[in-house]
Amino acid sequence: MDADHLSERLATVAGYVPTGSRLADIGTDHAYLPVNLAKRGVIISGVAGEVVRGPFENARHEIDREGLSDQITARLANGLKAIEPGDQIDTVVIAGMGGALITQILTQDFGRLEGVNRLVLQPNVGEMNVRQFLMDHGFSLVAEQILAEDGHTYEILVADRQPVVHPYTADELRFGPFLLAEHNPIFIEKWRHELARSQAVLKQVRSAAVVPVDKVAALEQAIAEIEEVLHRVSA
Ligand code: SAM
Repeated sequence: MDADHLSERLATVAGYVPTGSRLADIGTDHAYLPVNLAKRGVIISGVAGEVVRGPFENARHEIDREGLSDQITARLANGLKAIEPGDQIDTVVIAGMGGALITQILTQDFGRLEGVNRLVLQPNVGEMNVRQFLMDHGFSLVAEQILAEDGHTYEILVADRQPVVHPYTADELRFGPFLLAEHNPIFIEKWRHELARSQAVLKQVRSAAVVPVDKVAALEQAIAEIEEVLHRVSA
């Protein structure tokens, strides 16, 4: 992968960055995403944020090599601290991390999202955390996409700031309101796999010398929810 040849996952993320955006890509690694978007004329400007020095140097090198240092600024910073008021950022991408970390990054410097109207988030796991954050912080999902690449399943959550936020049900938080409605085969496969995994864990937990009652109840409930949803979307 490079800036001219994004993975399907990153290309899908890129597809949700509106034309004319001022973008912050947090956890940018090589800055392939903002460089790609700048080269294609999609973004006006960008901040490539990285907390680790090695990837930050990679990002800076990539931006310089492409002659884009007037348009994209690499910043070594933790999470949203990479965003400064003068950047006038309106779109934030956070991709390729766990949902808990994405949520922590968004929560700990939430004030820096002032002026941000769109979030494009791609958690590798823990999507439920991210949906809960959105619902609690004035952002509504406007699209969700699921895709499989290199043996992994990825969900991309796109949310806009909206004056009235739609409250999600427990099912919508866990499975995703758009994904629930879509009946995508990748979605069905993901949850079949998750069902088998949860059933195996339940079997193991039940055979413990001291059975943890709370854990059994939580697993049983999760299994029932997954079964119910799979029944609905496979019908
Ligand atoms: N966003 C790219 C993508 O989706 O391909 C790179 C994903 S890479 C797996 C995750 C990157 O996030 C790493 O380069 C890591 O250093 C960076 N990262 C992790 N925590 C961060 C934080 N709190 N602030 C900024 N970057 C962070």
